[in-house]
Amino acid sequence: MRSLDPLIEEARALADGQPVSSPSAHSAEGEVARVLQICNACRYCEGFCAVFPAMTRRLEFHRADVHYLANLCHNCGACLHACQYAPPHEFQVNVPRAMAEVRGRTYAEYAWPAPLGRLYQRNGLTLSVALAAALALFLILAVALRGSLAGTPAGSFYDIFPHHLLVGLFAPVFGFAALALAMGLRRFWRDVTPVTSGQPVSAPASAEAAGHVLTLTYLDGGHGEGCHNEDDAWTLARRRLHHLTFYGFLLCFAATGVGTLAHYLLGWAAPYPLASLPKLLGVAGGVSLLIGTTGLGWLNLRRHPLHGAPAQRPMDRGFIALLFLTSASGLALWLAAGSAALPLWLCLHLGCVMALFATLPYGKFAHGIYRTAALLRHAVEKRQPNPVGLGAD
Ligand code: SF4
Ligand code: SF4
Repeated sequence: MRSLDPLIEEARALADGQPVSSPSAHSAEGEVARVLQICNACRYCEGFCAVFPAMTRRLEFHRADVHYLANLCHNCGACLHACQYAPPHEFQVNVPRAMAEVRGRTYAEYAWPAPLGRLYQRNGLTLSVALAAALALFLILAVALRGSLAGTPAGSFYDIFPHHLLVGLFAPVFGFAALALAMGLRRFWRDVTPVTSGQPVSAPASAEAAGHVLTLTYLDGGHGEGCHNEDDAWTLARRRLHHLTFYGFLLCFAATGVGTLAHYLLGWAAPYPLASLPKLLGVAGGVSLLIGTTGLGWLNLRRHPLHGAPAQRPMDRGFIALLFLTSASGLALWLAAGSAALPLWLCLHLGCVMALFATLPYGKFAHGIYRTAALLRHAVEKRQPNPVGLGAD
């Protein structure tokens, strides 16, 4: 463990805008290591989230440790507002920002294929919206050329796009997203497993991690009253809106799955009546997703500037925008049933869904996967004896 003196010198130099000689200061991972060495001497935030107990099991923070801890952080902001060494203090301790910088880099570093990760990291919002618009336009042109864009359709989506054509369009996109996510997860898991005891996953650890994922435990600020957004006031809004978005997405996914089973097993063709399981799941999921993403977008615009990594904002906003557009166009498609606008809304909705799945492996959704993996490794690691023995889990 480095002594505090060089760390203080380094922090002073950084605060004064001076060049620093330590190699740790030259990378986002180095900045996390620097602030966590200070935290490890302080430990005031020990009860806030999983990051701090995991930190106390380490005296040094190597690259894989930092990647693991950065994805364990929920960016709740609590440790920034509680910290006596936060800016403008000369130590310049800003754990949420340091973690966010590294997290953004891990999405690109573990992405498969890597060039797509880097492209999305730099241009998330533009790429998301442009891809959705381009795909929707492509579908609109295809329908227009067949002469079926205007006029009341026969009532079935498959009069506009034959079912086999939809399967042919979407199966490769879904398959690619699943493969890319699996490859990214495999890389992350192989990297962080050795530094988190290397022990295999047990059933109790899995159950604990699943509970933390499903309830977003660490967005409670460590005391149950919520986390921070634009200021030092606690708010449960972030946690609730994340839940609306997460469960809305799952309901929409379930609606698609049930609809697929209904098609193949029962011969039912979409669109379905309101009093049917696929429609009820889809409408509930779409409304939940619409409210969740609208709220998260609003909170993102008002977020405290010190909480996150400015370079990551396009990626965050790109993912929120695509989820919003997917839910809004899906609900509009439902309301347009039987009208002349149905083909247009169908093209717009399909374009959004395809763009969403094509970009899933490279942004916030991938982070959900890495965070789940980090929580699982934490649940495994905390069941092992503390190799340092100075702190308590
Ligand atoms: S964030 Fe600040 S207060 Fe919290 S443990 Fe680190 S140095 Fe201490
Ligand atoms: S920002 Fe919140 S989740 Fe992240 S390390 Fe600080 S207290 Fe933990």
